[in-house]
This record gives sequence, C-alpha cells and structure tokens, in this order.
Amino acid sequence: MTLLLPLKLMNKSRSLSSFALILLLFVGFFACTSTLTERDTQDNQQNQAVADVEVEGDIEEDSDVDATDAEFVSDADADQTDGSDADQTDGSDADAAAPFAWSYEPGQTYTSESGYVEFIAGDTPIIITAPHGGYDEPDEIEDRTGTTVRDAYTLELSRELAAAFYEATGRHPHVVSLLMARTKLDANREIEEAAQGDPLAEQVWHEFHAFTEEAKEFAVATHGQGFYIDLHGHGHLLQVIELGYLLSSSTLRQDDSTLDDPEYADASSIRALYYDRADELTFSQLLRGATSFGALLHDRGFPSVPSPERESLAYGYPYFSGGPNTRLHGSRDGGTISGVQVEANQSIRFEEDARLEFAEGFAEAIAEFVEIHYGFEF
Ligand SMILES: [Zn+2]
Repeated sequence: MTLLLPLKLMNKSRSLSSFALILLLFVGFFACTSTLTERDTQDNQQNQAVADVEVEGDIEEDSDVDATDAEFVSDADADQTDGSDADQTDGSDADAAAPFAWSYEPGQTYTSESGYVEFIAGDTPIIITAPHGGYDEPDEIEDRTGTTVRDAYTLELSRELAAAFYEATGRHPHVVSLLMARTKLDANREIEEAAQGDPLAEQVWHEFHAFTEEAKEFAVATHGQGFYIDLHGHGHLLQVIELGYLLSSSTLRQDDSTLDDPEYADASSIRALYYDRADELTFSQLLRGATSFGALLHDRGFPSVPSPERESLAYGYPYFSGGPNTRLHGSRDGGTISGVQVEANQSIRFEEDARLEFAEGFAEAIAEFVEIHYGFEF
C-alpha cells in the first residue's frame, strides 16, 4: 500500500501531462491557461501514529462473562507484517500472477510438526484463521489461567467454510485452525499470555502464525494484497454477527461523516483496503455501506454489525471490536492484507444444519467482497 498509492498518483499525473502536450500542439499559440495542478499528494503518508484503540472485551466466548481484557499491542509483530508485505507489493504491482514458489497443494490439509495446527492450503488471496475452536488437551502442558473457553464449533465451521468456498467458486481460501484447546494455548494472544511459558505451547503458537504468514505471503506475491478473517464465536444474547475492525462500539455509534475522518481508517484493520479504494468509496461506505462485508452477510440472511441495517450497537450491548490477531495480520500497522474479526453468534453455529447454511452464505459473502473490493475474479 505504501508503494501502491504514490504509484497510482504518479501514473495519473503522467497521463495528464501527455494530454497537456497534445492539447498544446493542436491549440498552437493559444494560451492554455488551464493549469494542470499537480495533484495534491493527498495525505497518504502512512502515519503510524494511531489512536489507542479501545478493545471492548476482547474475550469472547460462550460464557457471558463480560470480559475486559486489555490491550495487546506488539511493535515487534507490526514490524514483521510491515516489512515483508511492502517488498512484495512492489513486484506484484508490475503484473499479477508472478510465479511464486508455493510448496502446498491447494485444497490439501497439512498438519504442523507438533500436530496441533491444521492448514488447508489455498490458491486465493483469502486467509482465514480459527484460533479458539480446538479440542486437544495434551497432559504435558499445564492448564492456562485466564479465559480458556472454547468458541464452540468454530473448528468445524472453519473446515466447512473452506469446503463451501470451494463449492461456490472452485477456489480455495487458506485456512489455519488450532487443534489444541484454549485451556493449553490461546492463539489469539501475544505469546506470553498465549502459551504462559510452556515450550510446546510456544512452538504451536509459532506454527499457527507461521502458516498464517505463509498464506499472507502467497496472497501478496500473487495478488499484491489480501483479505484476512479471524474466525470466532460469541456468546452474546443478541444473535448478530459482530465484525471487528479494531473500532470500538462507541466509535461506530458516530455518524458517517465523523467516521470518514482519516483517523478512523488509519486506526482500522482495513486501512490498506480503504486507501486502495478511496477513489470510489468513503471509509464509512467500506465499513458499513451497501458493499461492506456486513451488508453482504446481511444480504444472505445473516444480520451483522456494522452493516447498513445495523450500523452499530446501542450503548450497553457487548461487542467484540477485534483482538490481537486482527491487529497482527490486518493492515492497521502496515502491509496490504486487510482483515476483520468475525464473531459468529450461537444460533448459526451450534446446530449442524444452521452452521452449514451459514458456511455457505459466509463463503459467498467473502467471494463477493473480494470480487468487488479486490477485483478478484473467480
Ligand atoms: Zn474467540
């Protein structure tokens, strides 16, 4: 993104200059007073300074514990994302579909060395992670303290989503799922809290994020950008999918014109996508307009927030605004992978039929979103 935007602007001013030259030839001595103002290099410098994003109860789960676990900011992680993405954006901008050494077979399921991370390899710029649905509880790891509740059926849902996506499009998203239970490892926390010092848990944490990084590299190398989803399940009473873009509930309660202040795009996990689409969409339109991810889910019968029908939740309703993975793997701190935390409500997870129906609509919504906003063709 850092490189994409200036490039686009340069191209525009170059074509404007050629046009001016031709105009001059035709008009001869007629003074062409229309000044071609150098397009204001609109404020696209990636100002790293981002307001503190309030994370409202990042601890979801099927207990109704109103958790107020704090902030997880990691500069080290942000750097990682930044560096690798920027380099590869450059290359792929020249032309997409550059050859990329991808050592996986799309659609195949791989297991990490420890056996506790599952990776379904993809062939699209779509990356899905499911950190809280695992069942395995090896005795050799002591139970963690803190929130350890499983996001029920999200492991199943991640696999069903991969299958539904293939069914709908003939292509594969990348899906990384933790098979280990949250009592032993939380793959949506910084490593210290995630693994609590256990060497095996730490290894598994690294495996989970290494697969995710590889999938991101694939997306960037082949398409210059990507769409990331961190998949969870909430236990809130209101049966609505909560989409977390790192913007708090009180932020979302503001009107569109307020949200269109760049400070909110800059603080969001879809920052890169916003700047890429800024010629056509305002930030509030990307966030909750007619082609927002929430709208595409709603269109398929799955009420979501934010969306045109439900721009925000009223004061007092619990809402998950996005956690460590969304910060680490989305574009708030750099890179060209934009992301969202998807917190599925219980009524579309617990019963298999309902869940399969959701997986189908979810897959279609993802496909439509990347077609519209990433120009990806299936
Ligand atoms: Zn979760």
